[in-house]
Amino acid sequence: MSFLDQLIANTIRADVRAEKSYMVPDASGYIKLDAMENPYLLPDALRAELGQRLADVLINRYPVASYAALKQRICARLGVPAGYDVLLGNGSDEIISILAMACARQDRRATVLAPDPSFVMFKRSAQFAGMDFVGVPLRDDFALDMPAMLAAIEQHRPALVFLAYPNNPTGNLFAESEVVRIIDAAGEHGIVVVDEAYQPFARTSFMDRLPQYPNMVVMRTLSKLGLAGIRLGYLSAAPALLEQFDKVRPPYNINVLTQAAAEFALDHLDVLDRQAAALNAERAKLATDLAALPGVEVFPSAANFLLVRVADPDAVTAKLRAGRVLIKNLSKMHKLLSGCIRVTVSTPEENSVFLNALKASLS
Ligand code: PMP
Repeated sequence: MSFLDQLIANTIRADVRAEKSYMVPDASGYIKLDAMENPYLLPDALRAELGQRLADVLINRYPVASYAALKQRICARLGVPAGYDVLLGNGSDEIISILAMACARQDRRATVLAPDPSFVMFKRSAQFAGMDFVGVPLRDDFALDMPAMLAAIEQHRPALVFLAYPNNPTGNLFAESEVVRIIDAAGEHGIVVVDEAYQPFARTSFMDRLPQYPNMVVMRTLSKLGLAGIRLGYLSAAPALLEQFDKVRPPYNINVLTQAAAEFALDHLDVLDRQAAALNAERAKLATDLAALPGVEVFPSAANFLLVRVADPDAVTAKLRAGRVLIKNLSKMHKLLSGCIRVTVSTPEENSVFLNALKASLS
């Protein structure tokens, strides 16, 4: 064994050594429909104004630690209830790890519970924080299996329950009343994280119910709204809980450029909202066009992507890639997803390139 191999064996945890890094394919030259990004830019005049703002940002200084101006805009414009504040993360990915770090314990292993399949970072963050992960299979129609969820909550008393609302990768919204039953069942033993990453498209939210359910916290991101590149997620929760999570947050985690860009974008939220509405209209159209193809099944989606079942997902993915279209092949992720690919809803032009390439790949 080389010195470095020995060093790694002596120092890095076995489960980390066995993992692979989160894989993001190089997308240059591709139509990128694999990561739920908003394909639209801000209008040119706004981009120019943003450029001016960014030029004035003092990059030699650490960020102002309180993020007050940005938080104030988020709270005022994004429906955070009066008296509630937000914790900011470098993407909601960072918030997920902050939550796990805050709840992982030294005396015994704490548990993270989530429906399965769901967003992969729930499990990964639990694992890296040294927590157990319990995935409760969804039903065949991707609804929550309520008896199984309630039994698992009773049995494992999870410190954290993640519910993506709508769910990724299935795209559906869980029944509101079932989410409430899960919050009630977790009670004072568990924090239920309602992950509303796709809220700009679902246009339904638990945010205004924060005062009603003290063990519920609501997490969102600006990523899907058109700002994936700046990496900004936010979490709202009862102030006493937020105070605990904030202790685990790395200092200065939101950089000055992200803050300035997010403040600017939130001053023009109407533009981003109109883009989301256009994507929703495109989603309906794309779903209809896909459903008309022989052998293709499209699942209902409240997000900016569609889950689609085809006969040969590997061949379809490869042929689309050869046609310079990137989508996500989920067929090996979970048995409920056999045959499934996931495609981001994009501009009318990109959607039709995808649709035509898909048609060609089926023949
Ligand atoms: N939650 C869900 C359900 C997601 O699908 C994603 C992105 N794929 C995230 C959180 C993470 O988003 P971000 O880190 O960009 O804020």
